[in-house]
Amino acid sequence: MHGGWRIGRLFGIPIAVHYSWLFIFGLVVWSLGSEYLPMHQHGATGAAAWAWAVVAALLFFASVLAHELAHSLVSRANGVPVEGITLFALGGVSELRRDAARPGVELVVAIVGPLASLVLAGLFALAWVALPPWTAPAPAVGSYLALGNAALGLFNLIPGFPLDGGRALRALAWARTGDVRRATRLAVRSGRAAAGALVVIGAWLTFGPADANGLWLILVGWFLWNAALQEGLRSSIEAALQGRTVATFVSARILLLDEALTVAEAVDRIAAAPPQPLYPVLGEGRLLGALRPQDVARLPAERWRATSVNWLARRAGAVPTLPLEADAMAALARLEELRTDALPVADGEGRLVGTFERGTVARWLESHALLGA
Ligand SMILES: [Zn+2]
Repeated sequence: MHGGWRIGRLFGIPIAVHYSWLFIFGLVVWSLGSEYLPMHQHGATGAAAWAWAVVAALLFFASVLAHELAHSLVSRANGVPVEGITLFALGGVSELRRDAARPGVELVVAIVGPLASLVLAGLFALAWVALPPWTAPAPAVGSYLALGNAALGLFNLIPGFPLDGGRALRALAWARTGDVRRATRLAVRSGRAAAGALVVIGAWLTFGPADANGLWLILVGWFLWNAALQEGLRSSIEAALQGRTVATFVSARILLLDEALTVAEAVDRIAAAPPQPLYPVLGEGRLLGALRPQDVARLPAERWRATSVNWLARRAGAVPTLPLEADAMAALARLEELRTDALPVADGEGRLVGTFERGTVARWLESHALLGA
């Protein structure tokens, strides 16, 4: 997930907070401080209610983080590295670098998150019933967090992609049939069914006789629908690219720009050649950088004659290279991370061999699907 602040590391895993999470934090504080605590038996009012509301919201934040840490730590212990954890409006996501290689691992990684939430729900429920009345409003806060964690755990157990229950379903179907793609399709279909059901229930609550507010259910359903489609696409791409490296996709017959050219000369050559997302810039045979069409377009045309390609490439900044033997899926993730459509590729001696382009992979996937592979 893009956008958000890195707030630190836990167990070596980077933790980030997405902007949308602030909205939920505000909502939790507001609902606790203005309604739940003042109206609750042994609750609190005024400034005390707001202070407790902030404490409760922070504890809920920690609970969601514990859920994601459970996923991440179990995943890492089973050899699937974790890029980081991002908390956002609808909970959290653990960014695992790839899918688990075995259904058993996927099942355990999926289940352990909701399990952590349900254990936390139990602990907060214990605080709710066991704390003496003079600790008020701590028992009321306990009840709120018990319900919140139980809801988080149970919601995530809905058996549809991309929820944890959907991953568990995929793992079980995968173990049964031995066919990971079929299992993925099943989990995606079931995710869309669950998302559709949420939208229908939300619409019925909002517009039906119940006259309640189900708009947030519609929102969650819509989000899940999109996430299920995206996750299904990502999973099938990963399955198709399994075992492929950057070498399969490298575009070697591309236009290279010499650093000594003026931008005007470079534009002439670019215009005459087939379009590329990236033009590597060479100086004495070595890669100095790369220009994207938009880097050139940003420079006013009247300056093209007096500006060298070298200067423009330096201004565009350093460009990382991909090794030929890098995993293709990891290379795609790198493009995503750098928000670019292409990167230069270097061989074992650091020599430029071409570019790795998102478009090439897309065409390859399309042809592969057409050929029935
Ligand atoms: Zn989860």
